[in-house]
Amino acid sequence: MSRNVRQWLLTLMTLLLSIASLGCALVGGYILHMPTPVMLAGRILLLILLAAAGGVLFRLIAAIRQSCESVDAMLATFAAQENPASGIDEASLESDLVSSTISGHLCAISERLATLGRQRDEHKLAARLAQKRSRHLEAVLFSFPSAMVVTDAMDRVAMMNGAASRLFRRPEFTDGAKPLEECIAEEGLRDLLRSARVLPSSREVDYCLQDTSSRRILSVTLAPFGKSGQPTPDGALAVLHDVTRQRAADKMKTEFVANASHELRTPLGGIKAYLEMLTDGEVKDTQTRDRFYNVMQGEVDRLSELVENMLNIARIEAGIVKVSKENVPLTAIVQEVVEAVAPQAEAAGITLECEPLPVFFHIHADKEMMRRAVLNLISNALKYTPKGGRVDVRMHVDEAAGVVTVDVADSGVGISEQDLPQMFQKFFRVESTRKMAKGTGLGLVLVKEVVENLHGGRIAVQSTLGKGSTFSITLSLVQCKQPVG
Ligand code: ADP
Repeated sequence: MSRNVRQWLLTLMTLLLSIASLGCALVGGYILHMPTPVMLAGRILLLILLAAAGGVLFRLIAAIRQSCESVDAMLATFAAQENPASGIDEASLESDLVSSTISGHLCAISERLATLGRQRDEHKLAARLAQKRSRHLEAVLFSFPSAMVVTDAMDRVAMMNGAASRLFRRPEFTDGAKPLEECIAEEGLRDLLRSARVLPSSREVDYCLQDTSSRRILSVTLAPFGKSGQPTPDGALAVLHDVTRQRAADKMKTEFVANASHELRTPLGGIKAYLEMLTDGEVKDTQTRDRFYNVMQGEVDRLSELVENMLNIARIEAGIVKVSKENVPLTAIVQEVVEAVAPQAEAAGITLECEPLPVFFHIHADKEMMRRAVLNLISNALKYTPKGGRVDVRMHVDEAAGVVTVDVADSGVGISEQDLPQMFQKFFRVESTRKMAKGTGLGLVLVKEVVENLHGGRIAVQSTLGKGSTFSITLSLVQCKQPVG
């Protein structure tokens, strides 16, 4: 409080006290019936005192206002010195200490808010990225060609991709978890998946999936997953591949090697035995020696035929065989073969007949290969038909379908129903016919490759055991109305 204000306040108090005492004196004068002049003088004095008090009060108010203005000016000067850039801050006028504490708190709070905002933005971005990544991963898993099943810690199916749902004929799903029984019908496979979670590391097993219509072999890779150091895994992943064809091809390869070595060993063994007898000088007479040479010659021929057939089949299968096709009359090829084997048929006491076809029916074929295929069928018919039987070679045209068929029908031993489906398998020979003729079990395979693979035709067989067989080759026709030559 300024000195000026204090002086005016003191004066006002003194005046008010004087007025109060004079007022009391006047009241006492009335009561004691003081003389009128005294009372009048008292009243005049009271009026003077009241006027003086009014003047002092006015000065006091003026002094107070002046004092306030000087305080304002001082505070404004301080504020301007503290923060020259910002003008007058109302909050900081309260006091320096309070304003600096509050502004300190406000700064800390705003910094904290900014940090929280930044963190929230970062979290939002990370969540969006994680969501995008998970959607991407999900899409990859779902479009993955191999069947995939993910199980959780309670052995429920947590995810099953498109390939898996097609394999198990169940709808695919991403959300939630379903009991194994609901997703996989095969109990054995369910047990495999349950066992996967407790495996020490990933494992691959073959599983045979058998249903009413098919039998498939699945290669199942099982892998437990979870955070490292965790005693129990979070779940397991199973990746399933259909390896039926692969396994069948592996089996065929193994069988081929076994059969080929067996077929090669037999003639080689014969040749070796005869050679030993000849070199040991055991055979004295020329007649026996000639017979041995003939047998050895036959075995060598069989060996070379076997090797040649194997090579030809392998070349055709690998697609590296050289084929030179031309338009040729089918009847010419067939008649050429029939004429070539006629002496053989005659020697075996078999009637061989051929119904020729008009020469203008042409096929587009490799003449030599087709000749070998027809020769193989007619040779087989002669080989597996006993003396007195007959072999008929017929050709017929289906102009509407644009095809020509060659039938080689014999009245021979025939083929049983259970052997029929295996006729075109490598090294297959009907056990009961082994003694009738020597063979390789590759002739029909080669015919099938030549007809179907190289010429886009078809080969079929019909047979009744004990009554005979008919092998038919059907090929596309190239009609040439002009007689050849
Ligand atoms: P290969 O005659 O050299 O043994 P193929 O592949 O030509 O080999 O024939 C396979 C088997 O099919 C023969 O061993 C034989 O048992 C049987 N086969 C073929 N043709 C006839 C036929 N016309 N009649 C009866 N069986 C046949």
